[in-house]
Amino acid sequence: MVWLLRKCERCGSYTLKTDVCPRCGGKVHIPHPAKFSPEDKYLKYRLALKRQAQEQDAK
Ligand SMILES: [Zn+2]
Repeated sequence: MVWLLRKCERCGSYTLKTDVCPRCGGKVHIPHPAKFSPEDKYLKYRLALKRQAQEQDAK
């Protein structure tokens, strides 16, 4: 999944524009830290579900 939304630094609105905010002309940036990976979050979630399933099997 590619994160397409940008967030305006000035008014805080989300936009698909990559340069400036269409609303106020402020600078936009990707609204999450670069090191954050949605895939990692998914993996963690999957592992948690797997663990839960294993615990249920053990009972
Ligand atoms: Zn703005």
